[in-house]
Amino acid sequence: MMDLFTGSRHAPAAVQPRWQADTKGINPAPVHRRKLVVANWKMYGSLAMCQEAVPLLASVATAEVGIVLCPPAPYLGEVARLAQSTQVQFSAQNVAETVDGARTGEWSAAMLNELGCRYAIVGHSERRQHHHEHDALIAAKAQACVDAGLTPIVCIGESWVERQTGQTEAALLHQLNALLATEGWRKAVIAYEPVWAIGTGQAATPEMAQEVHAFLRSRLAAMDAAAADVMPLLYGGSVKADNAAALFAMPDIDGALVGSASLQISTLLQIYAAACEA
Ligand code: PEP
Repeated sequence: MMDLFTGSRHAPAAVQPRWQADTKGINPAPVHRRKLVVANWKMYGSLAMCQEAVPLLASVATAEVGIVLCPPAPYLGEVARLAQSTQVQFSAQNVAETVDGARTGEWSAAMLNELGCRYAIVGHSERRQHHHEHDALIAAKAQACVDAGLTPIVCIGESWVERQTGQTEAALLHQLNALLATEGWRKAVIAYEPVWAIGTGQAATPEMAQEVHAFLRSRLAAMDAAAADVMPLLYGGSVKADNAAALFAMPDIDGALVGSASLQISTLLQIYAAACEA
């Protein structure tokens, strides 16, 4: 049988994943992994929306459950100002892999850090698809974040075809292994975002997501058990107010990367409340 931890993307469809978890009777999530809700506004929103959202989020945010707002880059300065002295954190949706340079239209991790930004999303499937970002570039972006003191939120996920043809684990490993080749991987947050679930309204079931998260954590544990135990693994893909609690109840799901639903502040607050109750 193929070694799933190092195997190629071309695994035979008949391979039985050895990571299929029995979600019944699984131990609850360890308390040392705090839940994290990340709101990815993509290229939506406005200055007025930032000015409405940040004070509302600040009124409920606690140190125990993280809330991270990822507005479009032009609004980061205003969000930084509004979020000052609150528990609201913010993140860029992208970052360059280099420290500086003649790179029109890019910004560095150090610049984000200077603004008070503590996270940057890297490898979102929309950037993989529309900007042709590949695993090595994404790994370099993740390392650039760590070097500048930022936490990269590294997105990985399989396509529908990959899932249908039994390639889910191989596709994920291909993406994850690139990150694991970096020096700073232990400082990342990983977001499992099945491509077929993003923006489609069709989320993975909590059991499906848990199965993948358990697999990812086992791969991380094979590298470093202590790091795997504390690393936040987020689920993303059509998370809504009505499915968040069930997802957060899964032992290896430490929060969510929320796209469309986070544009409704009342919905984002409900999702955050579900994380607080989990
Ligand atoms: C995302 O943008 O990462 C995302 C998960 O989007 P949505 O929640 O709309 O599926």
